[in-house]
Amino acid sequence: MLTPTSDLTQENYYDRSTDWDYQSPTFFKKFLKCEAETMAELNGEYSDMNHEALLVGNYLHSYFESEDSHKKFVEENKSDILTRTGKPRAPFEKGDEMIHTLENDPMFKGLYQGDKEVIVSGYINGVHWKGKVDCLNLDRNYFLDLKTTRDIHKKFWDNDNKEWQSFAAAYNYQLQMYVYQELIRQTFDVEATPYIIAVSKEKVPDKMVISIPDYRMEEAETQIDMYQDHIDDVKAGRVEPTRCGKCDYCKSTAKLGKIVSMDDLIE
Ligand SMILES: [Zn+2]
Repeated sequence: MLTPTSDLTQENYYDRSTDWDYQSPTFFKKFLKCEAETMAELNGEYSDMNHEALLVGNYLHSYFESEDSHKKFVEENKSDILTRTGKPRAPFEKGDEMIHTLENDPMFKGLYQGDKEVIVSGYINGVHWKGKVDCLNLDRNYFLDLKTTRDIHKKFWDNDNKEWQSFAAAYNYQLQMYVYQELIRQTFDVEATPYIIAVSKEKVPDKMVISIPDYRMEEAETQIDMYQDHIDDVKAGRVEPTRCGKCDYCKSTAKLGKIVSMDDLIE
């Protein structure tokens, strides 16, 4: 399918109205976790956002976007970022350390070249998707996504497959990379290679350039094929959203209804 004319702009990209009109990796992943919570969020009734973690992430992104963007971002969020004496608060001091870790690295400097915050959109099997690419290099056909994480080597237990997985798999970043690659293909007619640039929030920040194996991209494609029509049905109100029963939204709206055996408490 050809590139659709898109009405997405830097101003409305994160607006709820565009989240209704377009699917995005962020919301798709939310739906996979809990449909009820995500519908409540789309309806403006609930937010699970960790405001501060989001702000620190945006603090970093704006820095590497441009000096102007960073200045503007700090100015707009002054009361969250700075203490009354005008110094950055601890999470943003850490943000500055993470920034320095990256900007002093020659490989990062060489790689993080290209267009920043590029909005892409397109159709995947009939569903309209949107994406915002941190850094897109169309000369060398790759794109980068900047991720902050507690510890790049932290292990997460995957109870479905009974195995440990990395933070990148635990947060399903391959899905985001697959969607972005597909939307870049539709928008610019190139096959771009995805990389994650991770920087950790540890005392001494760690950093890494991470590639996504092909089988991971195929995993993401399969997952989208399997679930996106159902998710569209939920969004359109044709199907009732399922409650996961475990997230903060489900807990906060649950009522005691039955008695559970002590042997059925864990999966
Ligand atoms: Zn839930």
